[in-house]
Amino acid sequence: MQSSLIGKIEKAKRYAQERERITFSDFTTSFQGKHNTYTVKCKDGQWQCTCDFFSLWGLCSHTMALQEILSEMLPKEALLKIDQG
Ligand SMILES: [Zn+2]
Repeated sequence: MQSSLIGKIEKAKRYAQERERITFSDFTTSFQGKHNTYTVKCKDGQWQCTCDFFSLWGLCSHTMALQEILSEMLPKEALLKIDQG
């Protein structure tokens, strides 16, 4: 293997440990809940989920789970929501 590619692979492994380097902006996920599969979106730091709970509260177990999983990889606006519950 070329040494330049080996260097990139090593760098990728280091980067993968430094998640704060990465910020998700707009994304859509398919979330398998207990009874249904929900679509959870994050756009400009604003969450959306297709479950009933979210329509009432503006947050839900699905958005909160993603906040925990992605944590430092989310923009600040997307993390603030958790405190408003
Ligand atoms: Zn939900």
